[in-house]
Amino acid sequence: QARRLEGLDKNVWVEFVKLAATYPAVNLGQGFPDLPPPDFAKEAFVKAVGGENIMLHQYTRVFGHPALVTILARFFGKLLGQELDPLTNVLVTVGAYEALFCCFQALVDEGDEVILIEPYFDCYEPMAKMAGGTPVFVQLRPKAAGAGKLMSSGDWQLDPAELASRFTKRTKAIVLNSPNNPLGKVFRREEMEFIADLCVKHDVLCFSDEVYEWLVYDGKEHIRIASLPGMWDRTITIGSAGKTFSTTGWKVGWTLGPDHLLKHLRTVHQNAVYHCPTAAQEAVAQAFQRELDHYGKPDSYFVQLAQEMQQKRDWLVQSLIAGGMKPIIPEGTYFMMADYSELKSEVPDLPDSEEPYDSRFIKWMIKNKGLVAIPVSAFYGTPHKRNFDHLIRFCFVKEEATLKAADDILRRWR
Ligand code: PMP
Ligand code: GLN
Repeated sequence: QARRLEGLDKNVWVEFVKLAATYPAVNLGQGFPDLPPPDFAKEAFVKAVGGENIMLHQYTRVFGHPALVTILARFFGKLLGQELDPLTNVLVTVGAYEALFCCFQALVDEGDEVILIEPYFDCYEPMAKMAGGTPVFVQLRPKAAGAGKLMSSGDWQLDPAELASRFTKRTKAIVLNSPNNPLGKVFRREEMEFIADLCVKHDVLCFSDEVYEWLVYDGKEHIRIASLPGMWDRTITIGSAGKTFSTTGWKVGWTLGPDHLLKHLRTVHQNAVYHCPTAAQEAVAQAFQRELDHYGKPDSYFVQLAQEMQQKRDWLVQSLIAGGMKPIIPEGTYFMMADYSELKSEVPDLPDSEEPYDSRFIKWMIKNKGLVAIPVSAFYGTPHKRNFDHLIRFCFVKEEATLKAADDILRRWR
């Protein structure tokens, strides 16, 4: 085994996806829709594989299928307030996963520090380490909600002085994920500006993971950090067609950024996967064209998906409360964290082990209650996992029947 893999073999998705398949359980674990994608996206894929253009079965341009990089440059150029060159400012990747992997491999060196905001999407830590970097953690901390009020993801904030203290001479990059998985926090403009100012002051890069960019609720606004002053030149913006069009299995993602950074990502990409499947890229290009034509209109999928998810969020809040948990209402994404501490007394003593309690609790819940969630300790750095094992994460991008089945389990719990 190569030394760079040491300690990185465990993976929460490998473990909990397998458990979800082993038991007859309602699956609110891994983040994928059990709803169909929009018809226009499905039709675009069918046309790509079954249509006249047989070249869509062959290799395409290494850094992104021409139709897709062209529409991504048009679509996001407007949103970023930046003219994007499809050939140099866009790179299509095998999902946002590969986009992240390219960022770390291309730009983080041995001994570089990378700031990760806890809780964070779990792969940032192993990816930083695999590149030889050192993760440096800073925590979003909850302020108490008002008496009798439920906590919102917006109540979780960074301490400005603490964040500033994490920037050192060795800091190479900060990873920002807004809307955030697993908390659902949507960073406010002032919070983003504070991070951006620190990046500029310390000459630090920003890997901005925006895969949930369309899933923002209650009239909140998704801010793109690359559009803030001084940030375009130091930011890689990451997106995912899996999240955007509810097609996680297509594994199409992208990065947007300045050529002087993207050219290094291209070197990783051309030596790793070469390119993402052509037909999937063609279908995503057509789907974006459709959304461009309907942008901001009531029949835009992005508008409709967010409305639908906000409603599902509100149902799940009620189900979790009925089951004795305390949900933290997410401002974005399709995830919700909940405190299950009050249920601990109703669970038999679980065997003591190194494994954080939330993980053991969920395994018990899967086997005995038939409900799958994801332990929140998986989204904390190795040193802090045990401090956050009173929380578990639920995914609500699910059919009404799935959410109803979860509701039945929760209401029957006590
Ligand atoms: N970033 C975040 C925050 C995610 O939740 C996910 C999960 N899919 C990814 C990146 C990876 O996205 P993809 O499925 O496009 O590889
Ligand atoms: N992003 C999804 C989640 O957070 C899925 C991640 C995965 O399966 N690797 O649940």
